[in-house]
Amino acid sequence: MINTLLICGGGGSEHEVSLRTADFIERHLEPCDDIDLMRVEMDGRGRLRDSEGTTWHLGQDRRLRSGDDEREIHYVVPAIHGYPGETGDLQSLLELYGIPYFGCGPEASKICFNKISTKLWLSALGIDNTPYQFLCSNESEETSKASMALEEWGEIFIKASNQGSSVGCYKVTSAEELPAALEQAFELSPYVLAEKSLRVRELEVAAYTYDGMLVITPPGEVCAPSDTFYSYEEKYNEGSRAVTHVEAEGLSEAQLGWIHEASRKAFIGLQLKDLSRIDFFLTDDGEIYLNEVNTFPGMTPISMFPKMMENAGHDFGAYLSNRIRAAVKS
Ligand code: ATP
Ligand code: MG
Ligand code: MG
Ligand code: MG
Repeated sequence: MINTLLICGGGGSEHEVSLRTADFIERHLEPCDDIDLMRVEMDGRGRLRDSEGTTWHLGQDRRLRSGDDEREIHYVVPAIHGYPGETGDLQSLLELYGIPYFGCGPEASKICFNKISTKLWLSALGIDNTPYQFLCSNESEETSKASMALEEWGEIFIKASNQGSSVGCYKVTSAEELPAALEQAFELSPYVLAEKSLRVRELEVAAYTYDGMLVITPPGEVCAPSDTFYSYEEKYNEGSRAVTHVEAEGLSEAQLGWIHEASRKAFIGLQLKDLSRIDFFLTDDGEIYLNEVNTFPGMTPISMFPKMMENAGHDFGAYLSNRIRAAVKS
């Protein structure tokens, strides 16, 4: 029996979203005799609790203990968006303990979760990404960069550099809106981006390794309501008006090729592992920019990753169980 630990929750703003991702994983891992999946929720201080509220400790001897009860852990699925999962911290610990796990390693996770380091890497890899200014404090000499960006670009996005699910992401169309957006973004992160607003069409691909091959799905599309953007509310709240298409229509061969090649370069160059969802913007001039790389994409009812994977003919549950078996065998 392969004892697999599904860790969800975590200490970040996406704790609740992660629980929904874990629901999806639990529902889809195909019933089998050789994998035993145990789910624990991590709180903001790293404590693990099962659904009955029992606290468990994962030791460096790869054993999960609660009082006299213990079991060996053979594989971990760190289904956490944000700290300490998508940031790579938990993966560092698992590397140290020698426990195989699903998804990207510590370094790729850390690079991709920080939107500024992602951009530096993408530029180094020669992949066009959304124009931006980097602000490292809310002092006037830094914030003047955002004011100038707003003047030049007309509309900008202020983003905390280390969040997901659109937390700390604000659309700014006038100078009056700027101070509040900066204030809120800096409350969440020591580094903030002022990005040129680019959305005309928002495209996403699922990129993952399947039977040792890198699969990049055709891009899907997210259509957020025109009066807003793909915000936290439009992602998860009831009454969301966002519409998703598992395959975007009307893209030219050249555009599809560009997205495929940029995704491939990003997956290989950033040394991603297992899975990722890579997001793009297509402007009305036909230009495409890579927006960001999500190393542990959401798997909630609206989320694109599982839908795009299914559309490519790959069942997530069968995929994950194969990954578990392969990692434990090697
Ligand atoms: P997630 O991890 O859930 O995909 P996130 O919090 O990492 O999201 P982004 O994907 O960078 O944040 O941005 C969230 C949303 O804000 C985008 O899906 C898009 O709707 C809008 N947005 C972000 N940046 C821009 C931009 N430069 N131009 C236009 N729209 C943008
Ligand atoms: Mg993201
Ligand atoms: Mg994300
Ligand atoms: Mg995104």
